[in-house]
Amino acid sequence: MTFILLTLFPEMCAAVLRESILGRAAAAGYIKTDIRHIRNYTLDKHRRVDDYPFGGGGGMMMQAEPVVRAAEAVAADYGYKPHTIYLSPKGRVFDQSVAHELLQYDTLMLLCGHYEGIDQRALDMVVDEEISIGDYVLTGGELPALSVIDAVARMVPGVLASEESYQNESIYSGLLEYPQYTRPAVFRELPVPEVLTGGNHAEIAKWQRRQSLALTLSRRPDLLKSAPLTPEDLAYIETLKKSGEGETVR
Ligand code: SAH
Repeated sequence: MTFILLTLFPEMCAAVLRESILGRAAAAGYIKTDIRHIRNYTLDKHRRVDDYPFGGGGGMMMQAEPVVRAAEAVAADYGYKPHTIYLSPKGRVFDQSVAHELLQYDTLMLLCGHYEGIDQRALDMVVDEEISIGDYVLTGGELPALSVIDAVARMVPGVLASEESYQNESIYSGLLEYPQYTRPAVFRELPVPEVLTGGNHAEIAKWQRRQSLALTLSRRPDLLKSAPLTPEDLAYIETLKKSGEGETVR
């Protein structure tokens, strides 16, 4: 899958994308990234990309020309215009199901705003959808775009060691993930839960499921409404509710 970024801060994006799992995934060819510096597409002789908003209101706006020309250059290079997302606090709120939906695209173009945002005419011309990463306002669309890329890319086959790596996880499974431990078995006199070192896989699976249910009931009861639950899960949730017990692990 290819991710194209249109940004005024290409170095910031490149620094993130070359590290760790995404960096390895790109080196191995599972994903491709193409970072375009919007400033390279300005026609202004001083390479200016921003100006004051009409009607006042303070702050600066990114001008339409460089944004539209950057998008046109991508379309010319790829032979078509990729599905284009503008990262914006006005967009629909990003979550795992939106990430999953975006996996259907072979190529995504992510447009990062800065300052007070982008001239509406450019958005009308190039953007297919707006996505927000939450109800707060950031200084630029780079961190949101990188968050979207990260969440989508880790579901691309091959990027994580196995598909199970993400399918058991918080949110994706519909529940919060159970607590996990690694060596040593005793850390500062604190042992890991006994069941985990016993080698009984059925018991371990049951313990993990119950931890997930208890954690989700106490922290994110809203998720339980749409989580796929078995009759056994529902019975366990009822016992938790009756006993007033919620979270079992801190
Ligand atoms: N004036 C705009 C906000 C501009 S914030 C408004 O009120 O809607 C500057 C840039 O940061 C935006 O162009 C957008 O690309 C990005 N941004 C800020 N908060 C964001 C969020 N919650 N989700 C996605 N992008 C965001």
